[in-house]
Amino acid sequence: MSRGGGGGAKGGGHGKATLPEKTCAACGRPFAWRKKWARDWDQVRFCSDACRTGRYARAKAALDPGRPGG
Ligand SMILES: [Zn+2]
Repeated sequence: MSRGGGGGAKGGGHGKATLPEKTCAACGRPFAWRKKWARDWDQVRFCSDACRTGRYARAKAALDPGRPGG
């Protein structure tokens, strides 16, 4: 007997390639890889300069000055 056909084609192309993602250490929101981070992606921790410099945290604190416990 002879086997008909053989092997399945490896399918993979479903939409665009998935970019790596991280979670911002400041705002806690997920952000995707960007070209400007190509070199320092491993060290990137914040989604934007605002979060990296702490502006986001300060703005957030200003909006909610009094938090019930923490
Ligand atoms: Zn952020």
